[in-house]
Amino acid sequence: MTSVPEIRIADGVSIPQLGFGVYQVPPETTEAAVTMALEVGYRHIDTAQMYGNEQGVGDALKASGLSRDELFVTSKLNNGFHRRDDALREAEKSVERLGGPMDLFLIHWPLPTIDVDYLETWKAMIEIRDAGLTRAIGVSNFQVPHLERIIAETGVKPAVNQIEVHPYLTNDTVRGYNAEQGIATEAWSPIAQGAVLDDPAIAAIAERLGKTTAQVTLRWHIQRNDIVFPKSVTRSRVEENFQLFDFELTDADIQAITALNKDHRTGPDPDTFDYVPA
Ligand code: NAD
Repeated sequence: MTSVPEIRIADGVSIPQLGFGVYQVPPETTEAAVTMALEVGYRHIDTAQMYGNEQGVGDALKASGLSRDELFVTSKLNNGFHRRDDALREAEKSVERLGGPMDLFLIHWPLPTIDVDYLETWKAMIEIRDAGLTRAIGVSNFQVPHLERIIAETGVKPAVNQIEVHPYLTNDTVRGYNAEQGIATEAWSPIAQGAVLDDPAIAAIAERLGKTTAQVTLRWHIQRNDIVFPKSVTRSRVEENFQLFDFELTDADIQAITALNKDHRTGPDPDTFDYVPA
């Protein structure tokens, strides 16, 4: 079986660089999708309270018969739960649904414009880690000023910052700050939800290497040392996205793909994205 490289993100915690994302996988089909990904060889699953499918992830992990230390599970605190007591209570619910402590728990969005300060939330995350509900804590969609503030105020660095990164949004400023601080970058929507797959420059590289444009794009992330978890529920694509370790891009390929950046977001802007209760 292909062995996926691991990246060390915190004391005693390493994460497989390639995982399986379950955003927009319906709760009722999540157990089957995750079971399929585990059969293909994935050992790292990226879910979130917001996705409503943690139970399906937990059921698949349990049914797999794999031991918990062979698996890596990330979840994320939902936007309505930024207050300390809410965060602790909801982290416990995630642990219950996932069938055991998480490996990595993230603040999903900073929500800098709401009346709960994300600094309170980050302090709650530290408590959640210290209570043993997760092995490592991190953030998602944090911009540089958000990171600077939580680090300055608590002295605790997030293990990872999960941000939107793909060839059309290289997100250099945040990615650069992460690297400077020793915070691992996780690249969400790594193929821009499919938008980069018809790009002629990526297609030319893919044709030369006999690979697909999805594989070339995912390999670009891997060689830049970012962590990725593409999402698909189609077995052939889930298999295709796992075959990234039998070829290499040249430096020129990497530069050509990086040069495609046009600061194009597929998701919301973290500086303005707000929480509106349902
Ligand atoms: P993605 O870039 O992984 O693209 C998914 C889309 O591409 C799906 O429509 C899928 O059918 C298609 N696809 C996947 N593999 C393909 C292939 N080989 N060939 C052709 N089409 C293919 O986008 P995503 O799902 O938004 O992101 C991946 C993961 O990132 C999510 O599942 C989630 O875990 C995470 N995520 C996190 C945040 C956040 O705010 N932290 C936001 C979005 C996504």
